[in-house]
Amino acid sequence: MSALDDARALFTHVTGRDPEGIWSAPGRVNLIGEHTDYNEGFVLPFAIPHRTFAAAQLRDDDRIRVASTFAEAPVEVGIDDLDRLFPTATGVEPAVPEWSAYALGVAWALRLAVTGAPARGVDIAIASDVPVGAGLSSSAAIEGAVASALNELWNLDADAVTLAQVGRRAENEAVGAPTGIMDQMASMLGRPDAATFIDCLTLETRSVPTGFTAEGLEVLVMDTRVKHAHSTGGYRERREACERGAALLGIPSLRHAGVDDLPRAAELMDDVTFRRVRHVITENQRVLDTVRTLTESGPRAIGDLLVASHASMRDDFEISVPELDLAVETALSQGAVGARMTGGGFGGAAIALVPQEDVGKIADAVTKAFPDAGFAAPHVFTVHPSDGPRRDA
Ligand code: ADP
Ligand code: MG
Repeated sequence: MSALDDARALFTHVTGRDPEGIWSAPGRVNLIGEHTDYNEGFVLPFAIPHRTFAAAQLRDDDRIRVASTFAEAPVEVGIDDLDRLFPTATGVEPAVPEWSAYALGVAWALRLAVTGAPARGVDIAIASDVPVGAGLSSSAAIEGAVASALNELWNLDADAVTLAQVGRRAENEAVGAPTGIMDQMASMLGRPDAATFIDCLTLETRSVPTGFTAEGLEVLVMDTRVKHAHSTGGYRERREACERGAALLGIPSLRHAGVDDLPRAAELMDDVTFRRVRHVITENQRVLDTVRTLTESGPRAIGDLLVASHASMRDDFEISVPELDLAVETALSQGAVGARMTGGGFGGAAIALVPQEDVGKIADAVTKAFPDAGFAAPHVFTVHPSDGPRRDA
């Protein structure tokens, strides 16, 4: 059964009725631009075919009930309760089960963002085929699906960017995860065969045709299923190094520096801070170069930029792990156009841009290389740039 059917079946199981509609939103991968978002720089993610579905219907009262195929039991609260539940105080567990805070947090944030929402209850049942915690943003997908359903059922007419901001607010303030806006924008603004360029300072966005489909290219996701215990501390340490580097350069964020500033940066800071700074500054430039190269020369010309991005994360930012390096090197040695780790690092997934006819060969080589190196089996599958949210039924 598809995730769409699962959402419908769960809705019927919980409510005894058919849903009024089913809405969905995609996960995403980041093509290039890593650890640039919180430095107010550039990112270039795209929406993937994996989606989260929300089957929903208005109720006659003011209760909100959410169910998920993930969870044992539905969670139900009154609309009046939302303002008491959220925002969740920093460092405190949400008062509702964490998974439900994504959906209920969207309801809360949407009511704050758009005036005139009716105090009308709703039943929502969620099912998804976005792998959770693999760096494909199942969180943005659930936020986008629920936001799209409520936007229509409550007749709010909010635009995609507003719904992305609602999702981010839910994730930051209801769930308590301090994430940027990239995931929600990538999911909400997805278009077939296009990536979304985001300027994280101005929030300006632009749809950039990738040409992958026309050129017969697929993106192979190689999920290492590794999650290192020090990822949280490592992430915080990287953010602090970036802030320190910007302060030494006398600028509000590393966005305001370019490659011409690197010699000065080298004089001003210790070696580790400098290498963190060099990753961010050169990565921003690589995002701009990737956009230009896609437009001027097509997708087969971006391979070197992807490879340079990986080397910068491995050597300067030091967030790769042996499993990610092995996935990247194996894909490249088998004919990938380019490859890099994607996401926050310390585990998670790598991506490779591969000709359709080589997908099987490259996937097999990666699948075999892992046990040969003593690593657990990776999860390997293809994606391509896909649609944003839609109503499916
Ligand atoms: P990622 O976004 O990389 O997959 P996150 O930790 O940001 O990882 O978000 C994953 C969390 O989102 C899950 O642990 C769960 O709480 C919530 N979530 C995602 N998809 C669903 C779903 N289909 N049903 C319920 N909760 C979900
Ligand atoms: Mg997430």
